[in-house]
Amino acid sequence: MECGCSSSGLMPIENAQALITELIREFLAKPAIKNKLSERVLLTDAVDRVLSEDVVSPLNVPAYDNSAMDGYAIRSADLSKHKMLKQIGKSFAGLPFEGKVGEAQCVRIMTGAQIPKGADAVVMQENALVHRDEHDEIKGIEITKCSGKGEAIRPAGDDIQQGATVLAKGTRITPVGLGVLASLGLKHVNVFPKLKVAVFSTGDELLSLGSPLESGKIYDSNRPMLVAMLKRLGVEVLDLGLIKDSKDAITEAFLYADTHADCVITSGGVSVGEADYTREVLDEMGKIDFWKLAIKPGKPLAFGRLANSLFFGLPGNPVSAAVTFDQIAVPALKALSGEHTVEPARFVALAGQNFKKRPGRTDYQRGHFTRNENNQLVVTSARSQSSGVLSSFCTSNCYIVLEQERASVNKGEPVTILPFEKPLL
Ligand code: AMP
Ligand code: MG
Repeated sequence: MECGCSSSGLMPIENAQALITELIREFLAKPAIKNKLSERVLLTDAVDRVLSEDVVSPLNVPAYDNSAMDGYAIRSADLSKHKMLKQIGKSFAGLPFEGKVGEAQCVRIMTGAQIPKGADAVVMQENALVHRDEHDEIKGIEITKCSGKGEAIRPAGDDIQQGATVLAKGTRITPVGLGVLASLGLKHVNVFPKLKVAVFSTGDELLSLGSPLESGKIYDSNRPMLVAMLKRLGVEVLDLGLIKDSKDAITEAFLYADTHADCVITSGGVSVGEADYTREVLDEMGKIDFWKLAIKPGKPLAFGRLANSLFFGLPGNPVSAAVTFDQIAVPALKALSGEHTVEPARFVALAGQNFKKRPGRTDYQRGHFTRNENNQLVVTSARSQSSGVLSSFCTSNCYIVLEQERASVNKGEPVTILPFEKPLL
């Protein structure tokens, strides 16, 4: 079968990911998208934005040789010749000594201050004795220890060399990355525009927050959760609210979303129940590339294209919505935002108990990992693996990823774990 699907029509996760990557590449190459691929923003507003071009350093950081210690700037050649050095001035951070250090001379220097001309080492003050006369005037400085030329000097360009690529296009700017760009003195940076993502929930049983609970109804937990995760991803969110299980209402919501957003994310209505219209509408309005994924939880997950946007039809069950959003939609949204792929950290842990599993789908069970007395990672399962028990996430700190063809796992067997990360927790 072309999709690599099993006889049950389920697409393996790896195939789905490869397909999504390919479709995103095509989507980003569309002229309408390509033409608006850069935006200039203040560096101070740029955390979590994605660079749309390489940042090349216009200067050396630090710009001049400076002291790593509080102490004395000396000429290393004097060490073997002179027991006592004469202090001829001071160099403070921001207030350099303007003269030159000559033979048998030294300059008092503070951390970060420019190394004066003539000096080629800094002796930290703990390795210098200050000799004073009867008027408490400094007579001379005696060096008790110095390893020689270059000691305690941070050379110009030690951190960043002028002309070096500091952060590459496609890098998401972290707070530290922002600090690095600030060290270059940049006030603005060029970033990709924020991705616009429309979100709505479908289901006649759903209630908005704040309304009284009615019989047979539940609160819409998926939409606030998805909106929160999207905000953490740094995208612009268009919250389209709750949509009834009606073909017309869902069609209208999709039409609006497609004209206002780059990506549409819905929850509910993608399985095969009588009120599951999402997939039907998507099928009529666009192209569904897959809708049955070999993943547990989250089998009914529709992915495809509308006229102007991509869509993810997430399953309604809250755990399934969270897992499929996190594992399938987040990497796609990052790629759509122009970010280059960063593989998440995976570790091997020992199963702290037996895990139930049937071959055929990749399981993303929720679990909790710790270290045992031998410093090995050990993982146990959350109380419930039901796709309706969202609170199972609250006592967990990782996924236990059980490969598609794997069967039940016995206590003590190695398993792969994937610690939770932003934007999930
Ligand atoms: P569906 O995919 O629409 O068949 O929904 C599957 C299950 O998820 C049902 O039990 C729904 O009530 C529940 N569900 C669907 N949407 C939401 C939502 N937005 N918040 C919480 N539960 C939901
Ligand atoms: Mg439903």
